[in-house]
Amino acid sequence: MNSYQKEQSDALDMVRSLLSTFSPEERQKLESEVADYLGFREEVASFLSTHFSRVCTQKCYQSRLSACCTREGIITFFADVVVNALMSQDREINLLLEVLKKPNNGFKCVYLGEKGCLWRLKPIVCEMFLCEHAKKEVFSENRQLKHKWDELKQREKLYTWPDRRVVFDTLESYFIEAGYSSPLMYMHNSPGLLRVKQRALSGTASCKGGD
Ligand code: SF4
Repeated sequence: MNSYQKEQSDALDMVRSLLSTFSPEERQKLESEVADYLGFREEVASFLSTHFSRVCTQKCYQSRLSACCTREGIITFFADVVVNALMSQDREINLLLEVLKKPNNGFKCVYLGEKGCLWRLKPIVCEMFLCEHAKKEVFSENRQLKHKWDELKQREKLYTWPDRRVVFDTLESYFIEAGYSSPLMYMHNSPGLLRVKQRALSGTASCKGGD
C-alpha cells in the first residue's frame, strides 16, 4: 500500500468508525447537513448523463483514453469520503478498503473497477472534470449547455470553496471535534484554502468595522 492508498484507507476507517457510533438521530442530523449538496450532485449527474453519456462511454473509461480516471492519485476531500460513506452499504466500503490494499499498477485510479468508479458517489473533483475532447464535442454544438455547465461549476463552490460556511468545511470540523485528523482535511490543512478562509474572515470583519 503506497502513502496515497494509506491516507485514503485511514480516512475511510475514521469515517466508518465515527459513523458506527451514531444514533439514528445523529445520523439524520448529518444527512440533513448534506441534503442540499446531494441535490446539487443529482442535478450535475443528470446534466452529465443527458448531454455527455454518448461521449463519455464505458469504453473510454476502460481504455487509457479517459484523462479523468487514468491518474494514479486523484484529489479526494475528507468530505467526499464522509458523503460517500453516508450513502454506501457496508459491503461497498469494504470493497474500497480491499482495492486500497492491492498494489496499483499506476496507470489508472485505484478506484476504477471493471464497471467504472467503485465509489457510490464519486469525489467532486472527478464529477466536475470534463476532458477537452468531451467539452469540444458537446459545447461546440450548443453554447447554452456551456453556460449551464459554467453555472454548475460556480454552484460547486457553494459547497467546496471556503470563502463562506461550506458543507465540505463543516464535515471536516465535525470529525476534528470528535478527535480525528486526516491529511485529506484540506479545508483545515491546505495553505491555499486556509488563506481563502482568512481573507473571507478579514473581509467580514472589515465590513462589520465599517458599519
Ligand atoms: S475516484 Fe472514481 S471517478 Fe474518480 S478518478 Fe477514480 S475511478 Fe475515476
